[in-house]
Amino acid sequence: MMRPAAMAPEPALLHAACPVCDAAQDRVLLCLDFLAGVPAGMNLVRCRGCGTERIDPHLSPRCMADHYDDSYYQDGYLPFLARRRADFARRVLELERLAPVLYARRQGRPPRVLDIGAGVGLFVAEARARGWQASGVEPSAAARRMAARTCSVDLASDWPSARQDLDLVTFWDVLGHVDDPRAALEQARRAVRPGGEVILKIPNFQSSWQRMLGWMSVRRRVNMLHVPTVIWRFHRHGARHLLDQCGFSLQGVRTVHEPDLIPLTPRWRLVRRVTALLDAVTDNRQEMILHARAR
Ligand SMILES: [Zn+2]
Repeated sequence: MMRPAAMAPEPALLHAACPVCDAAQDRVLLCLDFLAGVPAGMNLVRCRGCGTERIDPHLSPRCMADHYDDSYYQDGYLPFLARRRADFARRVLELERLAPVLYARRQGRPPRVLDIGAGVGLFVAEARARGWQASGVEPSAAARRMAARTCSVDLASDWPSARQDLDLVTFWDVLGHVDDPRAALEQARRAVRPGGEVILKIPNFQSSWQRMLGWMSVRRRVNMLHVPTVIWRFHRHGARHLLDQCGFSLQGVRTVHEPDLIPLTPRWRLVRRVTALLDAVTDNRQEMILHARAR
């Protein structure tokens, strides 16, 4: 008897087209086999159509889930919880200036926000502390457990049913990790009210800091590209096109410096200071925050 297609095991590695322009032609930039922990055959490729980069092939969602276990959050979050929390507190204050949030305040109601890939719930906790109506989606069970324990925040495992009444949907350092970024932004478009906005924070791969991480990965064979958990590497114009195709009009982009979230050796601190100075002078800091309004 033939096995039903739905029962076929999911392959561990998946090939995907460029999520921005669907162009069939890519250029291989780097074969990643030399990096420890990276499955054989993974390449960093650049779309010839729009310049968006991706890891090809990338891990299936099932295999990716294995990376987001208890140790991922305990090692990556717990030691730096206070610093990460302070960073999110600052982000919430910045968002208070956005038009959808000001509109909610004028209506005499709390701003409504949904955080996607909410991690251990730090942004949700800080937004609630400012009086927002905040909720979060986090597929990792390990992260949800830690969110309940450390932030007293209950996160959902999947998107809520379409509600169309949110003022904001936020993706903090998340879009590069999701299996299907286009589907994620389309979900966001269905979740926000007309005039609501989506917030994306993504690496600025044009900054000297991010370029240096790539160079160090090749030179020192240390995985600073965060492969395989990072799949997509968006550039500014590619992110804008994707937002536009998903029903959002870009309102603004700014580059921001990420505070040091982990302890650094004196040499690394110096490198960070020098690259931060260079990137500040050219307004090309290491991360980008885009906000785009639902049409
Ligand atoms: Zn493309």
